[in-house]
Amino acid sequence: MAILTANSPTRPARSRGRPAPELIFGNLWPFDPAPETADPKLRTEYGLFINGKFVAPRTGRYFPTINPANEQKLADIALAGAADVDAAFRAARRAQETTWGRLPGRERAKYLFRIARLLQDRAREFAVAETMDGGKPIKESRDFDIPMAAAHFFYHAGWADKLEYVAPGRRIAPLGVVGQVIPWNFPLLMCAWKLAPALAMGNCVVLKPAETTSITALKLAEIIQDADLPPGVVNFVTGAGEVGAAVMKHSIPAKVAFTGSTEVGKIIMRSLAGSDKKMTMELGGKAANIIFDDAPIDQAVEGVINGIFFNQGHVCCAGSRLLVHEPVAERILAKLKARMKVLRVGDPLDKNTDVGAINSKEQLGKITALVKSGVAEGAQMFQSGCALPAKGYYFLPTIFSGVSMSHRVAREEIFGPVLSILTFRTLEEAVEKANNTAYGLSAGVWTDKGSRILKMATELKAGVVWANTYNKFDPASPFGGYKESGFGREGGRQGLLDYCRLV
Ligand code: NAP
Ligand code: MG
Repeated sequence: MAILTANSPTRPARSRGRPAPELIFGNLWPFDPAPETADPKLRTEYGLFINGKFVAPRTGRYFPTINPANEQKLADIALAGAADVDAAFRAARRAQETTWGRLPGRERAKYLFRIARLLQDRAREFAVAETMDGGKPIKESRDFDIPMAAAHFFYHAGWADKLEYVAPGRRIAPLGVVGQVIPWNFPLLMCAWKLAPALAMGNCVVLKPAETTSITALKLAEIIQDADLPPGVVNFVTGAGEVGAAVMKHSIPAKVAFTGSTEVGKIIMRSLAGSDKKMTMELGGKAANIIFDDAPIDQAVEGVINGIFFNQGHVCCAGSRLLVHEPVAERILAKLKARMKVLRVGDPLDKNTDVGAINSKEQLGKITALVKSGVAEGAQMFQSGCALPAKGYYFLPTIFSGVSMSHRVAREEIFGPVLSILTFRTLEEAVEKANNTAYGLSAGVWTDKGSRILKMATELKAGVVWANTYNKFDPASPFGGYKESGFGREGGRQGLLDYCRLV
């Protein structure tokens, strides 16, 4: 009997016998390619966005941004120097003192509503641009990243004229100017998470996107122009880590907000020790997805797949450790493997693609090295057998079973489509294993019992605990970490509190 994966180019040959249940999934018809046709409207060159205008960098230098799915250059992006970062902060301070900080909240709300609506108007174009620049499947950028980014602007627009309810009984004031640095895994969404609460509260911003994914921030700058936001309220400076460091260390911002790796977060905290800057840090994670034997198994397996393979595992709260109750461990492993066989890895612009491209060659190297360590340390590896495109950065969805707590794949953040499976016998053991990590960003619990969910949510040291679901987000729900996953919250009333002064 011919066994084909969903990516196989031809139909399966007829078989006489009944295929084993797990192979039924593998015998699907191949999908027609369905490339998205919206024009991403990219410029060939992007300047810095300072004081409401795109300007050439004073360094005179540009760097290329590429499409990780095919390694082709998309555009040249300005490389900011210290003088550019300084100009951006001065523009932000001027705007905060003369316009934005003086506007009543209801007026600020109008601008935020406008940004949200303009983003919705251009959603398809933004989705294609996000997918081309970062490598994530179009169905994710189209159905998650872009609508969620708009939702964050809508949500915070709604708060802007009701800020007295953020801290009832207290008078609140904006902090002034804020410096923000974001990573490459949710480029536009991270922009929205950072900008919307800061602006609603009356702050002005200088933000640095990640080097590999600056395009949608710069397209958002076009929307900011179209929305007539006063010049200087939002400024984007582009470049790599040194530009981020210059944003964090500048003397003007009263607060810095960082999302990225724990390693860089620690460097920033060390560099700011002794200063009076407020800080929020959204850092790495190594979440546990915990399945008890009374869980709805098929739903849980789907949740695990979504939890780790969503966005190629480039998710800080990815469920990268699976803790399974021993009585159902074998059944779940078999179901996971069957499900993995039909995951389509490939062209992110094809709307049938489940797992897109790894964001950069460097990240692909990190994932490959950690997976090798898993094999060397004795865990059993299983990879889905789908053919990968010849060009571009791709990694097959991978699971490790027989993992112990000391293995690197169980301890370190891989930030790729790699799942480590461990087992447990009692609730206490599950809690102990889940909490036995330096991180504490998120966790998932799958069980039929409400009392067990509540018990686990109390015991798990994680900022978010999902119950019978995974990777669900809402602008009204605060998100943030415990331990080395950082401090401060984004979203909800708590997120707004991190952008104001109580006076
Ligand atoms: P990263 O290497 O820490 O980079 C994050 C951002 O910081 C990038 O814009 C980066 O610039 C910049 N940067 C690098 N060195 C810097 C320095 N010394 N000072 C200031 N900024 C500096 O992280 P990443 O690889 O982009 O993103 C993956 C990490 O982000 C993972 O650990 C993930 O868990 C975490 N993350 C956390 C959350 C959360 O909410 N907790 C959300 C998303 C991601 P360049 O990259 O341009 O050089
Ligand atoms: Mg790119």
